[in-house]
Amino acid sequence: MATGLSSKEFVENELKDVRSDPKLSSLEFIACHKVLVQVRIKYTEYKNIIVNIQFPPEYPANPLLLQIKSKVLPDKLIEKIETLCDQELKKLVGSKQVSTILLFLCDFIKNNPLIVCSEELQYIKNTINREGDELKIKQRTGVILYKAFQDQYFIDFKMTVPNEYPASHVQLEFKENNLPVNLYHIMKGQTVELLRQCVEPPIRRNPRAGPFVPRPSLQFITNYLVVDCLRSITTDSCPVCNKRALPTDPKDIIIDEGHPQYVYRIYCGHLYHFQCLDSYMKTPPFTGGKKCVKCGQRVFHDKWNVPPRLAEERWAHQEARKREIAEVAEFLGFD
Ligand SMILES: [Zn+2]
Ligand SMILES: [Zn+2]
Repeated sequence: MATGLSSKEFVENELKDVRSDPKLSSLEFIACHKVLVQVRIKYTEYKNIIVNIQFPPEYPANPLLLQIKSKVLPDKLIEKIETLCDQELKKLVGSKQVSTILLFLCDFIKNNPLIVCSEELQYIKNTINREGDELKIKQRTGVILYKAFQDQYFIDFKMTVPNEYPASHVQLEFKENNLPVNLYHIMKGQTVELLRQCVEPPIRRNPRAGPFVPRPSLQFITNYLVVDCLRSITTDSCPVCNKRALPTDPKDIIIDEGHPQYVYRIYCGHLYHFQCLDSYMKTPPFTGGKKCVKCGQRVFHDKWNVPPRLAEERWAHQEARKREIAEVAEFLGFD
């Protein structure tokens, strides 16, 4: 060894330095002696690891033995970080390694805000993302840019993972899309509510449910936007006429609310042509309220918010009118 110190002396010397290093003063040392150096590196509740370091025989001629534990980060990610550390430690052979590797780890956690959602990102990449989609993941800034396509339709949005994630939800920003404007507004409104529910306990909670745990929102909201909205809105058929609700070409979207082919999204999420829904809503049976043809959920929409009895009366009235007209026509000999 170039220093002329024995391995034991070298370790003792280094430990003294580590204990007094101001750059390490913010770290929580659980143990710091020649058998084990144990340190907690914690930025948030979810960016939280414990590093175990042991000195190998012949140290520093050999790299430190390093092991990371975390209750919050996934094992696969921890393995990757350990591999990175091992690579770094090999470069440090022959010199003091503890401070350098601890600072390396601090920087890594600080500069990779997406480590808290690595599994969600994997899911988005492998399962939601499809050929033709444009998905960009920016590790350093914690930003995810996603332009997803379904045939000729697309939505483009940006998500930022905040420092306190998942206790705070992702920040969602809509860029462009070519969905019908009414459907886009419903989707936008629902994302606000869904994101809120991820991080806020419901007002009326089951007292036996235990403490509220925030739900990771990244994969959840991406799945909602791309799978539940974009992919299904643009391919769903109207349950009354069984034809695809939206036109194949977004240029043909009908924006006039009174047009028979104008597309409504009702409470359950299913799509109907205006004319199809209107005639369905005005036809009995009305008992128990009209229910979605596809899923059986009650239809709620401002436009058809009519109590069953009134609907019944209106229908009866309309039928009576039809009969009257028919009778008059018959009387006048038009039949
Ligand atoms: Zn229809
Ligand atoms: Zn439905």
